[in-house]
Amino acid sequence: MPRPCASLSLDLDNAWSYLKTRGDDAWTAMPSYFETVVPRFLAINRDLGLPLSVFIVGADAAIEANRPWLREIADAGCEIGNHSFNHEPWLHLYSAEETAAEIIRAEEAIQAATGVRPRGFRGPGFSVSAQVLETLAARRYLYDASTFPTVIGPLARLYYFMKAPLSREDRKTRDRLFGRISDGFRPLRPYRWSTHEGGLVEIPVTTMPLLRVPFHLSYLHYLAGYSPALARGYFRAGLAACRLRGVEPSFLLHPLDYLGAGEFPGLDFFPAMNQPAEQKLELARWALETLAGHFEVVTMREHAERASARDLPTVQPRLLAQPA
Ligand SMILES: [Zn+2]
Repeated sequence: MPRPCASLSLDLDNAWSYLKTRGDDAWTAMPSYFETVVPRFLAINRDLGLPLSVFIVGADAAIEANRPWLREIADAGCEIGNHSFNHEPWLHLYSAEETAAEIIRAEEAIQAATGVRPRGFRGPGFSVSAQVLETLAARRYLYDASTFPTVIGPLARLYYFMKAPLSREDRKTRDRLFGRISDGFRPLRPYRWSTHEGGLVEIPVTTMPLLRVPFHLSYLHYLAGYSPALARGYFRAGLAACRLRGVEPSFLLHPLDYLGAGEFPGLDFFPAMNQPAEQKLELARWALETLAGHFEVVTMREHAERASARDLPTVQPRLLAQPA
């Protein structure tokens, strides 16, 4: 029996995209932390010999100064995925034309920067719509990875926008960030979207089976702020629950998981940004090593290919509730 797999992916959100979502005008200068963050996550994966999928934002790929870092990611053998062009978590509000233009523009910029055409997509802030899925299928993408089946999305959103300088209108466009409570009841295991343009595999971001609370690395860092032992125990419990329930986890990483206190002052409002970088890097290394001890770690693409070879349940994209 082959060992069950776990896929590993990192959403390469840049500093500007977080400021933009929060309504902070400082985003327009496109501040970046790639030079600090990229060498850190690549080094840990290289040391542990683990593959990684990196979802790149098109607007970053279009900036010359970012390109050496993006090429380094591709040269390290990482899978390159599409994380939209403008990183707007209100992507689900775009028209069909806007959706297609956004995805294609990102794809072209990412290919120009890395030499690789993405075959996988993750929506900004986990936003996804039937239009997104139709576009991906028409562009012959293998998989989407935008669903985040957790019940705590609305709480995370509340936290994120606390004290944010946003108008009522801005808040409305962001009212699906991190999802709704009903998203918590979506499947945890891979399935196949059936679109007018053909099929597309969905690899959900894994949350704790049954409880549907997150256990991606940012959440472990947040728990480690209370107790490092709690964070480690919680992660072990999450992996054990996946084994018991037959869920092959898709474990999610973010750049801030590799950035410590004082390293990017504009982002102090994020949870765990008061912890020293060394402490966060140590937990990151431990989590990936632990994951690899329980599962065969693969890229998202490999995870999608393995899932695709099985008989997957089919879901209609129209079941994604449309915005009110
Ligand atoms: Zn993102």
